Amino acid sequence: LLQLRDVNKHFGGLHVTNAVNLVLEQGEIHCLIGPNGAGKSTLFRLILGEHHPGSGQICFAGEDITALKSFARIRRGLSVKFQVPGVFKGLSVRQNLEIALQSRLHGVTLGREIDRLLAFLNLEAEQAQLAGNLSHGQKQWLEIGMAIALKPRLLLLDEPTAGMSPEETHMTGEMVRRLNAAGMTVLAIEHDMAFVRQVAQRVTVLHLGQVFAQGSIDEIVADERVAAIYLGQAHA
Ligand code: ATP
Ligand code: MG
Repeated sequence: LLQLRDVNKHFGGLHVTNAVNLVLEQGEIHCLIGPNGAGKSTLFRLILGEHHPGSGQICFAGEDITALKSFARIRRGLSVKFQVPGVFKGLSVRQNLEIALQSRLHGVTLGREIDRLLAFLNLEAEQAQLAGNLSHGQKQWLEIGMAIALKPRLLLLDEPTAGMSPEETHMTGEMVRRLNAAGMTVLAIEHDMAFVRQVAQRVTVLHLGQVFAQGSIDEIVADERVAAIYLGQAHA
């Protein structure tokens, strides 16, 4: 579904994305891991079109999208939940979801779709609350809801479980698996290895802007080279 070929990105003298090759198969849940500053979030911005690579090619559903702007990529079925929750704090949970649906639906159909999303996110009881008053975990769920409202083909999640309790993390994993069972391909940046084990069919390790290793979670955990790059990292 998504192909990155020799993608390079520099910020000044910093080679943040170094000849990255990555293939996402239709229907898989793929986790992207790696130490802080490895270039994971930058890779998401390149895929979404918020940054453009210095060289290399990005293909989505068989089309070269390297030169396309974010808006055009989202229209083709890409969606992202970023690292920092970007909900509209002064609007209610329900209103946030309404905005995410971008006036695609109206009246009863709109109401039903929002109800369906609220149930999926376990936020039915909070629908009238201001989004700014939600717990950190609930904000992350609302953001996931906003990212999936238009039923993207590929969902990118940047640290969806950051700041969540183990229970909330597990519930998020179940949400991701349900989305995947319904046909959504998912690429998630994640530091929580329990979550990676719960959802990932394949794992890619990014280190210093390069693809350092790739495999099943068991292969990655058993790889001593991978363990070595995490030494000194808080969330090893
Ligand atoms: P984390 O796990 O901490 O979220 P990450 O793997 O997502 O890290 P990035 O945010 O992609 O890492 O950053 C990779 C490197 O690029 C870092 O050294 C960062 O300081 C640098 N960087 C990111 N964005 C920019 C920018 N817009 N301008 C300059 N440097 C940047
Ligand atoms: Mg990041």
